[in-house]
Amino acid sequence: MDQMGIRYNIWIVLLAFALAASAAYSALTLISQVSLTAGRGRRLWLLSGACVLGSGIWAMHLVELMAGELPFEVSYHPGQAVLSLLISIPASYLALWIAAVPLLRTGHLLISGLILGSGIAAMHYLGMSSMMLEGKIHYGVQTQGLSVIVACLASYAGVFLFRKLKDYAGFSRWKLYSSLFIGLAVTGMHYISLRTSHLQVDGWPGNKPFLMETDVILLTGVSLVTLLMLAVSGGAVFLDRHVLERMAYNDPLTQLPNRHGLERYFRDEFFGGASGAVFFVDLDRFKSINDTLGHDIGDMLLQEVAVRLRCAIGMKGKVFRLGGDEFLIALPVCTMEDAREEAQHILREVKKSYSIEGHELYVTASVGISMAPIHGTDRSALMKAADTALYTSKDSGKNKFSVFDQEMNRHQLRRMSLEKDLRKALARSEFMVVYQPKWDSLMNVTVGLEALLRWRHPEHGIISPAEFIPIAEETGLIVPITYWMLHDVCGQNMLWHRGRVANVAVSINMSARMFEGGSLYDVIEEALVRSGLEPHFLELEITESIAMNNMEETVAQLSRLRGLGVRVSLDDFGTGFSSLGNLDEIPVNTLKIDQVFIRKSKMHSKKAIISNIIAIAGNLNMEVVAEGVETPEQIELLQSLGCRVMQGFYYGRPMPVSELGQWFIENTA
Ligand code: C2E
Ligand code: MG
Ligand code: MG
Repeated sequence: MDQMGIRYNIWIVLLAFALAASAAYSALTLISQVSLTAGRGRRLWLLSGACVLGSGIWAMHLVELMAGELPFEVSYHPGQAVLSLLISIPASYLALWIAAVPLLRTGHLLISGLILGSGIAAMHYLGMSSMMLEGKIHYGVQTQGLSVIVACLASYAGVFLFRKLKDYAGFSRWKLYSSLFIGLAVTGMHYISLRTSHLQVDGWPGNKPFLMETDVILLTGVSLVTLLMLAVSGGAVFLDRHVLERMAYNDPLTQLPNRHGLERYFRDEFFGGASGAVFFVDLDRFKSINDTLGHDIGDMLLQEVAVRLRCAIGMKGKVFRLGGDEFLIALPVCTMEDAREEAQHILREVKKSYSIEGHELYVTASVGISMAPIHGTDRSALMKAADTALYTSKDSGKNKFSVFDQEMNRHQLRRMSLEKDLRKALARSEFMVVYQPKWDSLMNVTVGLEALLRWRHPEHGIISPAEFIPIAEETGLIVPITYWMLHDVCGQNMLWHRGRVANVAVSINMSARMFEGGSLYDVIEEALVRSGLEPHFLELEITESIAMNNMEETVAQLSRLRGLGVRVSLDDFGTGFSSLGNLDEIPVNTLKIDQVFIRKSKMHSKKAIISNIIAIAGNLNMEVVAEGVETPEQIELLQSLGCRVMQGFYYGRPMPVSELGQWFIENTA
């Protein structure tokens, strides 16, 4: 019986070392994601890291077995070989899980290193025992102990170095050192363990050096595992780099870069030092398209708008979607003149008709522009200025662009301070109602009153509704304000009725917001019941856009109110964008001709419009009121066209309650 040392092909050992280290590197790259994610994502990264590391060290360990030069054929017990894989993966999982805990102490690292090292050792001995030899391997106890210690120490060094830069997903020196140590743990342990062992062979077959015959099944297994390992790590890195990056920086609907993409662009590519421009683009009345045609059509429209913006800008800059119907365009090289031209071009492009699912749609955009470096050099200053300019475009009628200037800033500041004060105004009783008469010019009597809101601001004095109503609408404060007004106006009208001062209907302007919650009916009924006012003495003024916005629902609410006896009038008629085709479906009693037609009634075209509105009202059995009547000529014209009820400064300005008593006395037949 002969005993001999086991010789090794050092090149295969080195190859196994390199492969084990690269498996460890891939695994650590996956694990780097663990601290950036939570929940299931975290477990998934950990598991894929453990699979790559566990199967990597297992496969490389077997490669090393093949590096041994033995004087006889060796085969393997497949069950045990597989079992050793089942040790290395859970051990890797446990070790990586402990190494990745957020609040790491030295003890954690020690345990993690110990688990990984022992896992490698257990896998090694199980792998060895899976060899079916014609001889016997004698292990020296001390040297085996040394090999296990080497495995544990090298594993500890590996996890320790990895933790130093655990959150860094790109290439890192520390990760490389860490993987080299893990590679060393596998190869070193194996090499020490076997190099110091002796092989006992029954019949020495001679002097020829036997390269260990490779078991085909085992080799296939090793190759498959290696491929799988590469696929998992490659796939995960691809997912991480490309798919996740796309998801993080791009908007899935339009494929434009999103807010994060914008931040990155401004950090890496857009330098405001030279001349550049930032455009805020916001679609006008997009919400009504969404509400009336549904979100799917709305989404398709946004996609189409995104394409148009991208085509309009081409290579000159970049388009981002900030959310909803808001887009941002950055033009890194752009003069003021270019910016104006570009903005006009964009407005023209957006305005062209869209054909979506059989609908022909029209939408316009408002644009706010800021210029670098005059309005700022960094992203936040440029965006703020462009946003302020956008507000100006919206406020001044939409479908236009504005370039930021300091005056806008003052305007915005006032708006913001008014918004702040508006929130407290109701509680501080700063609102008051003024009433403007509607006059029957043939009978010379007051036939109605319109209630108009005024805000007595403690510092700025009386503020016009034209200024604060839009703020109240935007913030939703219009709803409690209108509730208050309904109670105040119904109570006041009841007082006039009881005191026999006046016996007319009072109208209140309604905002679109009032129709949103579906509780308008109850609120109005409550105001009527509480005041004791009969419903036909209350009139609601709505605009065309309110009626058209979510028409079915609005019409249903108005019909219920009409059923109660409340009157409804269509305010500012002729200026909305509704189609006349639906007018007969809206339950209204009265059409109010907008003041712009009356103001310009000398123009033949306006006269024609007034005449037509009066005819339409007549045909649909509606009453008609002319707004903004200021001169006897206007009265004469309106009378000749068949309109008798008028409202305007000629007959009476909006007055507070204190003045109205006297006014009624003087103006009642
Ligand atoms: P509106 O409902 O069309 O009200 C008529 C506006 O025209 C009133 O302006 C009135 O003072 C003004 N006006 C009346 N006659 C003449 C005239 O002969 N010449 C001129 N130049 N103007 C005349 P006001 O009170 O400033 O209200 C402006 C708008 O604010 C209202 O237009 C209405 O849309 C809104 N508003 C006022 N009060 C309320 C309210 O309580 N709730 C809501 N939602 N909106 C309100
Ligand atoms: Mg009105
Ligand atoms: Mg009006």
